[in-house]
Amino acid sequence: MNFVHTVLVFSLTSLAVVAVTQQAESQAPSERPTGTKIVLLGTGTPVPDPDRSGPATAIVVGDAAYLVDFGPGVVRRAESAALNRKIPAVEPGNLKVAFVTHLHSDHTSGYSDLILGGWTSGRTVPLEVYGPTGLQSMTEHILQAYRVDIETRTNPDGPMRDAGRFPDGWKVNAHEIKPGVIYKDEKVTVTAFSTKHAMESYGYRFDTPDRTIVISGDTNPVEATVNACNGCDVLIHEAQPLELVAKLPKSPIVRGEVPYDDGATRGIGEEGQAEVARDLSHH
Ligand SMILES: [Zn+2]
Ligand SMILES: [Zn+2]
Repeated sequence: MNFVHTVLVFSLTSLAVVAVTQQAESQAPSERPTGTKIVLLGTGTPVPDPDRSGPATAIVVGDAAYLVDFGPGVVRRAESAALNRKIPAVEPGNLKVAFVTHLHSDHTSGYSDLILGGWTSGRTVPLEVYGPTGLQSMTEHILQAYRVDIETRTNPDGPMRDAGRFPDGWKVNAHEIKPGVIYKDEKVTVTAFSTKHAMESYGYRFDTPDRTIVISGDTNPVEATVNACNGCDVLIHEAQPLELVAKLPKSPIVRGEVPYDDGATRGIGEEGQAEVARDLSHH
């Protein structure tokens, strides 16, 4: 296998595979100096595993962080990375731009905390969020659900005027996307590509000044991932080794009492994973 380094992290629907593809025989990408970091904030699943937070990854470029997915625990894991790994870009108040691969709850149930926890931690500008159809509705409903909290914290005559210092920090600009370049600033260009999961879903390619990183999200093997990773430095891919699923904490799905079929993992098995690996090694 033509990978320099592979890290496997299991998940019910998926297994995150961080694969650093080898571009030059003489010098692996990991040996080149980089200003870009990947912080795996959460690699968990819908299963409430106490040792794994929900799916969330931060791409850090200098002092800016770009979040992909916001599973449960995302804000606390971000604070932990800021404090314990000395990465201030992921302090919750600094999280300003996020991308969501799809709207499954295990990837989005940290959304309210990202919005409100980021605001009360000092975010002064609206959160910019990019993702599939349904994102705007989800955002509006979350803000509606927390209307009392937001009104209390923004009431200039109320008892919690502190957050009034950041009057725009609770706001969200939700962008529903299509494949293509969906975001660009001076540090990063983000390109979305369609993936194959139980619902509208996207993978993302991040081109930074010194690295190209691809995140698949939950997906079947698709050519779009291979194409997006053409020449990339790091691929973070989801997969599902069945032998690991068998070891997961018992849930109705794992016990076979509830049929599990999200279209993402059907019939892939080890052969499918090997196929993805083979494809990638050819690009
Ligand atoms: Zn998932
Ligand atoms: Zn999913």
